[in-house]
Amino acid sequence: MSLEQIREWLNPIETVLKLEGGKKKNEKMLPPVMKRNVVTIIGVKRTVGRFLPVSHEGYSNETYVDKVELLNRERAEFIARKLKGIERRAHMSLYRELIEKTVEKEWNLAFEELYGKACTIPSGLCVTCWNCSLFGALEAGKGGTFSRIRYFDTWSFESTDECVASIQSGEGMGIGNTVSEDLREERGADSYHLYEYVKPGTHFPFITIIESPTSLDLAGYIQAVRMADLHGYGKYSANHGKFETTFLSVAPGMPRFSILTMLENVEGDVIKGLERKFTDGTFAFDAPEQSVILGHNEILSIGHELEKEFADYVKIVRQ
Ligand SMILES: [Zn+2]
Repeated sequence: MSLEQIREWLNPIETVLKLEGGKKKNEKMLPPVMKRNVVTIIGVKRTVGRFLPVSHEGYSNETYVDKVELLNRERAEFIARKLKGIERRAHMSLYRELIEKTVEKEWNLAFEELYGKACTIPSGLCVTCWNCSLFGALEAGKGGTFSRIRYFDTWSFESTDECVASIQSGEGMGIGNTVSEDLREERGADSYHLYEYVKPGTHFPFITIIESPTSLDLAGYIQAVRMADLHGYGKYSANHGKFETTFLSVAPGMPRFSILTMLENVEGDVIKGLERKFTDGTFAFDAPEQSVILGHNEILSIGHELEKEFADYVKIVRQ
């Protein structure tokens, strides 16, 4: 399947994004998701600086990286909820930029015009916009919409001996200032904290599944990942948690492999090793009639269609 065929295979934007009249006057809602087809996006994220994946409570002024014993080594853990949270926020920033450009109003006014209210994460979700349609919005008593995008926990290819700077490692823990990393004045010891971090050059594979995907969803997701990479994931993400993502595959259907299979099957150069597993058929997908491997650059070109796709979407919402 070529890039063109992928585009044709994806659902038309209006199938999941056109708002319909609700029970009450002036109420607009997202229609239920009718199609159950999925697209799977596979790739590898590589840290380009210090990264602090932390999902547990800390002890006083020390921060420890999430770790887990898995497939014969201890690995750094990057949980799905954190991955999704950051990418949802990046998607929303992108969305606001796009809507300001397309509607030529400030984003909150544009949202009010198109959806009846401005949408804010996490507590003011509107339940009708594209971000809510993709990432879900459930509000007690108000109904809502389920997430169409699925994330999975992931782990480092490298063992923590190699990839985590800790009290035992040669580098030792990082030292930060709890107020600001940049303060010039001398401060007392109580304003410092020690943190473990995942070192630059560490690889995490990922699998993302989008249900009832439109071409807009796919383009938006790809651009949101790129934005999130620059914005930062994990704790202290203003200064840390920057990534470089290599997309390996976009394919119709569910994957017949998991993150664990990806971790198991690769030795040596991670990206080259994984690419080989797609071409030799070790990693396959469920859609029988299509087997798609689009390379990194081709997948990026899907992201470049975002502005055009978005303009089409706004036209549909305004109808
Ligand atoms: Zn919303």
